[in-house]
Amino acid sequence: MTTEVTRSEEETAALAARLAPYLPPGHIVLLFGDLGAGKTAFVRGLARGLGADEDAVSSPTFTLVQEYRGGRLTLTHVDLYRLGSVAEIDDLGLEEMGAADGILVIEWADRLVRPIAAATRVRIGITDADERRIEIG
Ligand code: ADP
Ligand code: MG
Repeated sequence: MTTEVTRSEEETAALAARLAPYLPPGHIVLLFGDLGAGKTAFVRGLARGLGADEDAVSSPTFTLVQEYRGGRLTLTHVDLYRLGSVAEIDDLGLEEMGAADGILVIEWADRLVRPIAAATRVRIGITDADERRIEIG
């Protein structure tokens, strides 16, 4: 477990970019934190660190799942924010996605019905307007 404090969106992305090279194929990253915490910023950094196009990363509006290719590993980005019921989430087949050879990152991971044991958990707390406390474990 490591804790870092970042003071801008870019610092949060840079932290994720430093983590990305250590992620093995098939790994899952679970993101926790309130709206505006910086989860999507963190995903942008993961894309950068993997060598994919970070500008393609956005908060999905209608798409629940986005894929960014072109890097060391394909990054699959799931945002559970707009899903209403837990039953829907249960039907997504996330386990199958995680079994793929890329990296799976899930925003609002607290909405998952079943816990995913073998995953890196990233908890982002808002400590000030531009300050975030990021726990990675
Ligand atoms: P989430 O996906 O968790 O809802 P976003 O990444 O979409 O959050 O947005 C985070 C917002 O917080 C952005 O507007 C960003 O500029 C702002 N922000 C301010 N300070 C930070 C920081 N230290 N790390 C990440 N985002 C920050
Ligand atoms: Mg987001």
